[in-house]
Amino acid sequence: MKTLQLFIEASHSISNSWIDSWKDKGYILGYFCTHVPEEVVYAADILPVRIRATGCSETSLADAYLSSFNCSFVRCSLEMALGKKYHFLDGVVSCNSCDHIRRGYDVWKHKVGIPYKHFLQVPRIINDEALGTFRHEIGGMKESLEEYFNIDISEEKLRESINVYNDVRKLMKELYGTRKNGSPKISGSEFMSVITASTAIPKHQLKLLLNQLLNELVDREGHSNYRARLMIVGSFLDDPNYIQIIENLGGLIVADALCYGSRYFWDLVEEKGDPINNLAERYLKKVPCARMIGEHDNRIKYVMDTVKEFDVDGVVFQRMKFCDFWGGECFMFRRELKERGIPFLELEREYILSGVEAMKTRVQAFLESIEARRL
Ligand code: SF4
Repeated sequence: MKTLQLFIEASHSISNSWIDSWKDKGYILGYFCTHVPEEVVYAADILPVRIRATGCSETSLADAYLSSFNCSFVRCSLEMALGKKYHFLDGVVSCNSCDHIRRGYDVWKHKVGIPYKHFLQVPRIINDEALGTFRHEIGGMKESLEEYFNIDISEEKLRESINVYNDVRKLMKELYGTRKNGSPKISGSEFMSVITASTAIPKHQLKLLLNQLLNELVDREGHSNYRARLMIVGSFLDDPNYIQIIENLGGLIVADALCYGSRYFWDLVEEKGDPINNLAERYLKKVPCARMIGEHDNRIKYVMDTVKEFDVDGVVFQRMKFCDFWGGECFMFRRELKERGIPFLELEREYILSGVEAMKTRVQAFLESIEARRL
């Protein structure tokens, strides 16, 4: 599985060989959160790379600026930035995805010394007015990039970028769909490696790699020796090792509702009509994050539809400590999935993997409870 190995290796580090070769010829922009329309950056021939903090083991530098009540992903990514681990970035785009990210960006702005910085206001409700505001914001980001990097982002380039991103989304959805059958050819941790690595690979190359991977999987023997089919939902999660812990105990992750998962590729951008408007539509109306007000029913519906389609036995809700949005959502999910008779496991975590033995005990008990239901 040569191609799968490439993805797994690339997911283990914030940089990779594609970034290195791109650096020789062009600019690289880091971005926080899947509400940032990457297509605009890519249409400028700039490589968008999603900010991860893979490899962070402590936060002594960041703790000088952010309290321990801040999300540990935000603290870890700041730690990596202050430690010059993002030396390959020419700029960063952040947004008001949550107050932790917003606060983190305030520090990046003044303490990280990255040349280009832009902050995108993303509405938290979906209506015509919000759509208009977001359309304006995306247009503003485009102009800001054109001005700072002295480039012209033509409508043709935007359409081309939207087209290649949609092609990649279709391939990711095809790969995701292979996990519906009884013996999925790719495990949950492997799938997360693919998606995580994908956010730092140029989309034209990624398209070729995903086609290669799909071909490689055809002859692969599927995963059949598992105890339960699980779906994982909740906060920011970019660590395949976290999922591997659950899978080593027999809980195969066959589906998710994560931003480093199906929520990254589920929705396509309309290719007819005004590209900026179509980007605003897609990025505002995509499968909703818990930050979106008034969208709880849509989040539950997405999970319940997936539970049916992927024949899921139980839902694992992982949430980052102090993550307000997903903390609140977890409370409602627990009650509603219980009412629907769906086994539910809530796990609190930090960005840096810890408390693994306690986690194993919880997962073990959860799997036993699912097996007991079958008796
Ligand atoms: S995990 Fe929660 S608190 Fe952390 S960045 Fe994401 S939404 Fe914000």
